[in-house]
Amino acid sequence: MNGLEDCVFCKIIAGEIPCDKVYENDRILAFRDIQPQAPVHILILPKRHMESVLDLADLKTGLSANVIEAAAHIVRLERLEASGFRLLTNCGADAGQTVSHLHFHLLGGKQLTAPLA
Ligand code: 5GP
Ligand code: ZN
Repeated sequence: MNGLEDCVFCKIIAGEIPCDKVYENDRILAFRDIQPQAPVHILILPKRHMESVLDLADLKTGLSANVIEAAAHIVRLERLEASGFRLLTNCGADAGQTVSHLHFHLLGGKQLTAPLA
């Protein structure tokens, strides 16, 4: 597991690395993926460092709901609610997780085909 000092998303949250920000509140940040795989490709993440959705599930702070609420808000900001979208998180090696700071991919703006990744 990376230390926080090595975490690229913690650096983005701290403002040490720039991002194309889409949405922010006190617990969540969302910005555009640097290598977009669809016309809309946004990463939605808790500001608190944790590795995966399993860590999120263990919290009793309401953060899981905050993430989903933020995702729904961003779907409407990006006007994807009618055309559709995909919201997913990669967890661990088999899913190909490359950044060890929990993030959800919001993908849309075109017909999304299988495979998911
Ligand atoms: P994963 O493969 O872990 O599910 O997704 C990591 C995502 O983060 C990738 O889609 C990758 O393009 C994106 N990414 C990695 N580093 C940066 C960065 O510095 N800035 C932005 N905006 N996206 C990044
Ligand atoms: Zn982090």
